[in-house]
Amino acid sequence: MGRRIGVFGGTFDPVHIGHLRGALEVVELAGLDELRLVPCARPPHRETPNSSAEDRLAMVRLAVADLSPLMVDARELERERPSYTVETLESLRSELAEDDQLFLLLGWDAFCGLPGWHRWQELLELCHILVLQRPDTGSEVPEALRNLLAARSASNVRAISGRAGQIAFVWQMPLEISATQIRRFLASGRTVRFLVPDSVLAYINAHGLYRASN
Ligand code: ATP
Repeated sequence: MGRRIGVFGGTFDPVHIGHLRGALEVVELAGLDELRLVPCARPPHRETPNSSAEDRLAMVRLAVADLSPLMVDARELERERPSYTVETLESLRSELAEDDQLFLLLGWDAFCGLPGWHRWQELLELCHILVLQRPDTGSEVPEALRNLLAARSASNVRAISGRAGQIAFVWQMPLEISATQIRRFLASGRTVRFLVPDSVLAYINAHGLYRASN
């Protein structure tokens, strides 16, 4: 029997307890053996002070250091250019056992935007998709996804078998925390204690990240 491995992508600028709590809930609800947080490369932009790929990665590493089912996967940061999800999954697949199950975590909004993704129709050949649902989730499924959902939905995420091909919905406790809000707090000199793990806060302070003057 293969392992059940989740993939959770994001900018993690910085990683916060919304990410971590959500990740742990998915591990428990879906019975994952491992959940990989995959920080993505992103083009530099200048609106609010953002941190480097190196700092984002270091903070995710600190955040999961004592959370054994959670791991960090740095492959997207090791590439020359931003990766498409389908490429990341192909790369992961090439390292996994044939019967390992791969679960891609997507928020509802991301899921609805799937038809715009590069080679999106190949995704379900590589992984299962777990759609994270919250009470404020919109209800309209885009036309392009209706048939897919009808054909591929699994009602019980724990009963999903096979290496790829199914879609399941996972309910999440809402925690209205965003990295944007955390960056704003820090830029205006406010505390973010209890919004990020203490180890991440210590890193932010030690490196002077997200300060307005950076
Ligand atoms: P930003 O505010 O910079 O856009 P963010 O807080 O939304 O960042 P991302 O790194 O963009 O964080 O998110 C990575 C993934 O984590 C996304 O799939 C997103 O839906 C999910 N996520 C972000 N915040 C939360 C939260 N509070 N609870 C659960 N999931 C979250």
